[in-house]
Amino acid sequence: MDKIVSLAKRRGFVFQSSEIYGGLNGCWDYGPLGVELLNNLKQAWWRSMTLRDDIEGIDASILMHPRVWEASGHVANFTDPMVDCKQCKARYRTDVLIDDLSVKKKKEILRGLYKEDFEGQQSDEKILMEFSKRIVGDEIIAKVIRELIVCPNCGNKGTFTEARQFNLMFKTFVGPVEDTNNVVYLRPETAQGIFVNFLNVLNASRQKLPFGIAQIGKAFRNEINTKNFLFRTREFEQMEMQYFVKPGSEDTWFEYWREERLQWFLNLGMKRDMLQWHKHEKLAHYAKNAYDIEFRFPFGWGEVEGIHSRTDYDLSRHEEYSGKSMKYFDEQSKEKFTPYVIETSIGASRSFMAFLCASYDEEMVEGEMRTVLHLHPTLAPMKAAVLPLVNREGMDDIARQLTKDLQKSFRVFYDDSGAIGRRYRRQDEIGTPYSFTVDSQTLQDRTVTVRERDSMKQERLSIDAVKNYLSEHLRHETGG
Ligand code: ATP
Repeated sequence: MDKIVSLAKRRGFVFQSSEIYGGLNGCWDYGPLGVELLNNLKQAWWRSMTLRDDIEGIDASILMHPRVWEASGHVANFTDPMVDCKQCKARYRTDVLIDDLSVKKKKEILRGLYKEDFEGQQSDEKILMEFSKRIVGDEIIAKVIRELIVCPNCGNKGTFTEARQFNLMFKTFVGPVEDTNNVVYLRPETAQGIFVNFLNVLNASRQKLPFGIAQIGKAFRNEINTKNFLFRTREFEQMEMQYFVKPGSEDTWFEYWREERLQWFLNLGMKRDMLQWHKHEKLAHYAKNAYDIEFRFPFGWGEVEGIHSRTDYDLSRHEEYSGKSMKYFDEQSKEKFTPYVIETSIGASRSFMAFLCASYDEEMVEGEMRTVLHLHPTLAPMKAAVLPLVNREGMDDIARQLTKDLQKSFRVFYDDSGAIGRRYRRQDEIGTPYSFTVDSQTLQDRTVTVRERDSMKQERLSIDAVKNYLSEHLRHETGG
């Protein structure tokens, strides 16, 4: 993980927010290459959702009527239990406090509580399993925190307060008066913008069930513990799609979307063994079924996308709170009903990090270490590099002209500084799939070398064929 974070900073993918002021926890800025990769990722998602008949897009505002969040349940339930240290005032989420304990400490706690021998003969893995099996439920967690855990900040034991529920929504005020009548929230998810626009979109687009609404946008959560780079941040971007279906058909559509969403990752070059399904055993009372797609991050498996079967809960709640009907009239059967919803919800920033991790590789080439991002060409921030072998004899002029031509259609990088081998390595490190080199032979026969990032194979082709070569290869790679 450290290597990826350091590459991300060095090559301008991701910077810490407000770095010159010491940074702002849980917030990150995307640099020149990062914003290209992020935009490509969002574009790939958007195209997969909207280049079909049955899904419309929207872009709802971040600030919404506060009743939206009462109806959605976020005001009452979007909380994490947390404790404060009375001594040093540090604040922790209880589950994170427990998760972050070392194996040694977990052994000690098990031994203290159960007087069994958790020392010696048992493997760490077994101990961790025992721990997560036994240390669950509010009461036991409260006891462990009260009596057995030292504050990671000041090292005192027995100084934690009772757990309190902490709402994760950022609150602010509209207008000049800061009172409770003017409270608004920064949306903690994009989905509600879709639900409240269900009828607007239905009427404007003349869609019929089943159909979906897709949206990409920022979401904000006042996470108590931000960690693991872009995995858990306070400001992030989501790509969500709500698919409205006739009650009774939700299981079929749930399976359909599970397959579609997994395939999306695979189409973008993710290996199957880096992904796994996690079925939710404990479902929210309104949910019929829920699976997460988890990615194997360097720190362990973590959710990147949720696929949820949510019944008619959201639309019904908005009907109840707004007093406006959210029903659909089915012309064929002449029935009126509230549609059921299948939701696919993926973090753009979190999956950005997953694609970075999945593509990062180090390999020995001729006795030298090469760092390479095997990014799918669709995602690669730069589609090609153009490199004059030397900066003389007109090679640079030809290379500049080629760059200009290609830039009419693609993001292309011109680089004329340093030895050619180093320049190739610089492109490998940022995932550029193709490099075109102008050399002395170009001056004679107008051919250039193309070098492919993954195989490092080189071949010659006419300079006039470069544009077609690139379009063809990118189109082929993207299946378009
Ligand atoms: P977690 O359990 O990891 O907090 P969640 O179950 O609350 O996630 P959802 O509400 O289902 O997440 O959000 C859908 C997606 O949004 C997640 O799969 C993830 O990709 C992304 N996401 C959620 N919270 C964050 C965050 N704090 N930082 C970055 N991405 C996030």
